[in-house]
Formats: sequence, C-alpha cells, structure tokens
Amino acid sequence: LLAPERCAAAVGTAAPKVEGGGRRSSEQGQLAVAPARLVDELVEEALVWSSQHGLVVGDKNHPRSGKAPGVGLLHAPFALLPMSFSKVYWDQAVELAPLFNELVDRVSLDGDFLQETLARTKEVDSFTGRLLDIHAKMMKLNKKEDVRLGLTRSDYMVDGATDQLLQVELNTISTSSNGLACGVCELHRNLIRQHERELGLGPESIVGNTAIAQHAEALAGAWAEFNNQSSVVLVVVQPEERDGLPVAVVYFRAGYTPNDYPSEAEWRARLLIECSSAIKCPSIAYHLVGTKKIQQELAKENVLERFLDNKDDIEKVRKCFAGLWSLENDSIVISAIESPELFVLKPQREGGGNNIYGDNLRETLISLKKDGSNELAAYILMQRIFPPASLCYLVREGTCIRENAVSEFGIFGAYLRNKDRVIINDQCGYLMRTKAASLNEGGVVAGYAFLNSVFLT
Ligand code: ADP
Ligand code: MG
Ligand code: MG
Repeated sequence: LLAPERCAAAVGTAAPKVEGGGRRSSEQGQLAVAPARLVDELVEEALVWSSQHGLVVGDKNHPRSGKAPGVGLLHAPFALLPMSFSKVYWDQAVELAPLFNELVDRVSLDGDFLQETLARTKEVDSFTGRLLDIHAKMMKLNKKEDVRLGLTRSDYMVDGATDQLLQVELNTISTSSNGLACGVCELHRNLIRQHERELGLGPESIVGNTAIAQHAEALAGAWAEFNNQSSVVLVVVQPEERDGLPVAVVYFRAGYTPNDYPSEAEWRARLLIECSSAIKCPSIAYHLVGTKKIQQELAKENVLERFLDNKDDIEKVRKCFAGLWSLENDSIVISAIESPELFVLKPQREGGGNNIYGDNLRETLISLKKDGSNELAAYILMQRIFPPASLCYLVREGTCIRENAVSEFGIFGAYLRNKDRVIINDQCGYLMRTKAASLNEGGVVAGYAFLNSVFLT
C-alpha cells in the first residue's frame, strides 16, 4: 500500500518538477532545494522571522514556560518550504466544509441518536459517559439552543493507493492551531519573497490563510446574536473561571480531555455552563458529534440520509469516508489482528497521542477479545491511510533535518445559526501538518508534526 518515495526538485524552475509517477498524488511534495548554503540561509532567516513574529510555542524544557508570560518560548516546529497540493483535493475539501458544518448541526439536534450510538461506549468510557450525562440532563430539561456556533476542522489525508482524499476526523471542540497555521503561511511567503528566483515560486502562490480572522468573526457574530452590549466572551482555558458579567459566548479551548476535569468542580462548571443561556462553542451536543464513535456511525449505510437531504451532498460527504468499523464486527477484528498495519485503533479521545497501531493494536485486540469484555465498545477501528511521501526539510528546536514525510490537511470551518437563520456557514482557512512517514501520530503540539503551508498545482 505504501506509495513510492517521491521528491520534488525545483531549483530555478517556475513550477516544482516532480520525479517519478504520473499520478495526481505525486504532485504532493515539498520544494526541495539542493544547495546546502541556501538551506542554511533559509533556516536562519526562518528562525529569526518566527521569533520576531510570534510563530512560537511554549518550551517544555523551560521550568517557567506557561507560568510567566513571555518566558520560555521556542519557535514552533515548521517545514522549511511549502508543500504542493493538488487543486482537486483543495476544491474538494473546501466544498465539504459547509456540508460537514451542516451535518454537525443536524446530528446535534438528534439527541436520541447521540445517546443510542454512544450507549455502549458510555458503559466503558467514563469521560464520554460524563459528557452524555450532561447531554441527557439537557434533553430532560428540553433545553433548546437557538443560537448555535461551531468552529470546526475537518482533517484529511490523501490515500496513495487510490488517490482519494479521505477524512481522518472531524474536530468540533478546541480546534486548535489556527494562529500557527496563519503564521507559517506568512513565514513561507516571506522566505519566498526573499528568494523568489532561487526557489522558482512567487510569494503569492502560497494559499493565504484566513483561519484566525474568520474564527474571530464567528465568535463576534455569536456575541452579536446574544444581543447584550455589556456581555463578554468567556474563553475556557482553565476550569471555573468567573467574571461577574453576562456571558454571551463560552469558547472551550480546554475541556476536551479527561485531564481538564481533575475533580467534580470542573464537571459542575461544565454543567453550569451548559445550563446557562450563553452560546457554547461547542455545546455538549456538538462536542459529542465530534467523537470517533459518531464518525464511525455516520459512515454506516443509510445513516447520512437521516441528516442530509440533498443526494449530491450525501455522495460528496460519503466519498471522503475511509473504512470505519465498530468492534462489534467480529470479522473486522479478526482482520485487524491478522494485519494490524492496515488499521488504526481509536478511543474516544482528542488531542493526539491516543491511537493504537501495529503490534500494540494486535495485542490490545487479542486481550480485549480474550476477556470477552465490553471494553471493545470504547474503541473504533479505522482503515489506515497511507499518504504519498516526499522529501522535506523539517525544522525543530533550531535544527533542520531532511526527512521522507507525509502530510495531513485540515480545513477550518465556522457555522453560526440563530433558529432558522444560518448566519455563517463557511470554510475558514487551513492547517497543513507534515510529519516523518515512519511516524504513526501527527500532532504539532504533541511533538510529531511540523506546520506547513501549501501552493496549489
Ligand atoms: P485526535 O483527535 O487525537 O487528533 P486523530 O483521529 O486525528 O485523533 O488521530 C491522531 C493522528 O493519528 C492523526 O493526526 C494522524 O496522524 C494519525 N491517524 C489517525 N487516523 C489515521 C488513519 N486512518 N490513517 C493514518 N493515520 C491516521
Ligand atoms: Mg481530534
Ligand atoms: Mg486529529
């Protein structure tokens, strides 16, 4: 299944040339510049630019990082040069963004579907269980959310074997990296502006990124719908923040992982927020729609039809679904034990680093099966996607390495609705992450991936 290694060479040419393979996916590759002198120069310029323009993250090795503002910062890991990306995939992902936004909204309104689909997961996964308890309370209260705000990100990989853009997952909570994604586009534009002739690419060819501006606009739009001039937007970064003012919008930058709820107090706060009149981004229902279990259920036959009306839209959405299976499906579990390298085993978690691969996957499945335990319901199985690889320059902690790498492409989305009035339903810029082809996981903050931008071919 692994696509052959491909390398784009582009010194002094107007467009990057691609060696080997005539297939569309072969067009995905980084501009690979040969002269070491130029690479060194680019790395140094990129590092200076990152420090000067805030393309930085907390430095885990610094004791005061995250405790004192402006202390313990490090440039974000980035690919030195942008990635070429087929316009066909770009158009497809852009077209899908509003469809997925709408789908999230429709599914969120079907409380019984969420409760039923996650019922078995709930028995063995207490975190999802707690979220479902809050959701059940809201159903009992018959609480209606007239104004609904979704800031989403649908992540994709190109499957090298079929040249298809396949969805990895749909994020509905704490959809992060929008600021860094905008930053790396500016970084690449700036580098290219300085070295236009040597790189054979113009700065305008980097696809601009509007993620930050559009997500901020959606938050402001929701605030306006709340219609109270003295109200505020509350950003949850730590539990139990209070500020004595009416809250129009609560944005959850935290709350997606069990670690964010160390005690009952955090759960009480989450329930309090859900009961309030504030617009939640996401509401408990939107949060649950983003679980891997719901992703898997939506991929089953005739389930999309419950939520979307237009046949063409349903086809477009279905086309990007990879193979997804519940572990109740015995034959797929047996296949995964036989060939674990073709699958990813996923629990209901966010934030990267939670999936199980390879030998671990096999052992986990064997032991879960042996126990005959319900624990199987905590997971889903997914077809492993193998994107085409290409050589890239990747920079972390000031060091540049040349690595055979693959990429994951995310499209941000925003959805704002007040009763029947859809105010925003848009795609909002992108996140390109590049990582060594040999790695399983792919988060930037988790320490696996590098920020990247794209130019279309
Ligand atoms: P999370 O919500 O934690 O980000 P993901 O489903 O995005 O969970 O998985 C984390 C990472 O694992 C992805 O960024 C990607 O690198 C890798 N991954 C997930 N699913 C697949 C898949 N089906 N094929 C290949 N890699 C995958
Ligand atoms: Mg996620
Ligand atoms: Mg992810």
